[in-house]
Amino acid sequence: MKKLLIAVFGALSLVSCQQNQREGKPKLVVGIVVDQMRQEYLYKYQDRFSEGGFKRLMSEGFMFQNAHYNYTPTYTGPGHASVYTGTTPANHGIIANDWYVRQLGRSIYCAEDSLVSNVGGSAKSGKISPRNMRSTTITDQLRLATGKQAKVVGVAIKDRGASLPAGHMGDAYWLDKATGEFMTSTYYTDVLPQWAQDFNAQKRADHYLSQTWETLYPIETYTQSTAGDDNDFEGPFIGKDDTAFPYDLSALKDDNGGYDLVASTPYGNDLTLEMAKAAIEGEQLGQGDVTDFLALSFSSPDYIGHRFGPSSVELEDNYLRLDLALADFLAYLDQTVGEGNYLIFLTADHGVADIPDYMQSENIPAGGLDMRFITTQLRGFTNDKFGPGNWIENVSNDQIFFNRKLAAEKGISIESMQRQVADFLLRFDGIKETYTGTDMMRENYSYGKKQLLQMGYSHKYSGDVIVILEPAWLSSSWKGTTHGSGYTYDTHVPVMFYGWGVRAGRSSQYHTITDIAPTLAVMLEIGMPNATTGQPLTEILD
Ligand SMILES: [Zn+2]
Repeated sequence: MKKLLIAVFGALSLVSCQQNQREGKPKLVVGIVVDQMRQEYLYKYQDRFSEGGFKRLMSEGFMFQNAHYNYTPTYTGPGHASVYTGTTPANHGIIANDWYVRQLGRSIYCAEDSLVSNVGGSAKSGKISPRNMRSTTITDQLRLATGKQAKVVGVAIKDRGASLPAGHMGDAYWLDKATGEFMTSTYYTDVLPQWAQDFNAQKRADHYLSQTWETLYPIETYTQSTAGDDNDFEGPFIGKDDTAFPYDLSALKDDNGGYDLVASTPYGNDLTLEMAKAAIEGEQLGQGDVTDFLALSFSSPDYIGHRFGPSSVELEDNYLRLDLALADFLAYLDQTVGEGNYLIFLTADHGVADIPDYMQSENIPAGGLDMRFITTQLRGFTNDKFGPGNWIENVSNDQIFFNRKLAAEKGISIESMQRQVADFLLRFDGIKETYTGTDMMRENYSYGKKQLLQMGYSHKYSGDVIVILEPAWLSSSWKGTTHGSGYTYDTHVPVMFYGWGVRAGRSSQYHTITDIAPTLAVMLEIGMPNATTGQPLTEILD
């Protein structure tokens, strides 16, 4: 009988676990975006992860192992906007970090807002708001659903990493590169809250910039870093000839952007988490009657990844340190909000390409496109074809913008010009496909890179001709690396849920990162962001 009872109880608890019952609401949602984190890093570095950091999310949470960005370009601004709006740039409007606007004759920045000014920090870093993002975020929906009682706070070193996730109705704080302080803008408030002023008074950025960055463990144990510590592929800091540990930060500070330097070290992650804790305490996040939302973004992995690449000792050290910082933060949430009372999701805004020169050194096809040379060739071609004139108005984000005024004056069809330029560009090594703006507006692509392009295409602001490069090619040839493509190294990112209402599990089904926001909407029982195109992740909901 006793045995039977145990069996029955065992079965019951299994059922309730599988049904994933959610009662009430979480006290706090913590959204974590790790800037430039590939999904594979979770496996690559896991042997030396602690039990309480990434591994805790991997083993006790639900991990989607095959989640991707479903548009191009895979950049930071579009990435954060897409996670939080549940849709792609074609709908939310953040089509790049900066994009050319014909009517203005200049590029605008994704989080720029000329109508607002700095609160704290310096004037230069203060013209920031989420106004260019045209759809609501999951954080907006939470504010709307709770009569604005839910508190929403975004924290990141990068302004766009804080302001886009916090949505149109939340608060956002980012690091001022001139003063090393966290700041906000008049879009949000007129005075920096006392808790933020108190945090800034501690001068934590100064503390970190007085450190020497050395590896956490003996350097010979960094076996995941196949390119070696000192090599020609990585981009050195100004004032240091090599790319080898250690990095004396106080000696490097003045030549490398002052406080900007802290962003290029793992200490940037620690600084972000200290500010996050100050926000939790200052705003009493997770202590009220309704669910609050903390939107965190770790910017430093991106800076480190650009400079040193995915096979570097520096990046390995970043993730080992971030893991410990994350473990500390989870333990802190257990204490302040209570284990089981908070819901976490962790993802990234994009991945990254390997350094092309390094790939070539391993016999993998890769390369750097010389866009200046190609633009010069293109000017020659358009002059020959359409007569003398400045036909190319702008080249940015792998897109060509024509001088439409000139075309109108000369009576030349934009569509035919687009076609001819698109065909011309295919002759260059490294360019794989070209599409025209007319293609993007007229066709309905359902697969391949062209579909990703269309999901990121703006009828108002995108270019006349768009270029897709070969795998592992970059449209720059400087040391270090970048991201932006629709290839797996850029699209495949972690998507993990942990905590309130989430059972442990894994899924290798294909999902898109636009599924995160509608999943949260179902869990929190609030409306989906207004332009959502993603679908709730049924594996963790049903
Ligand atoms: Zn980046």
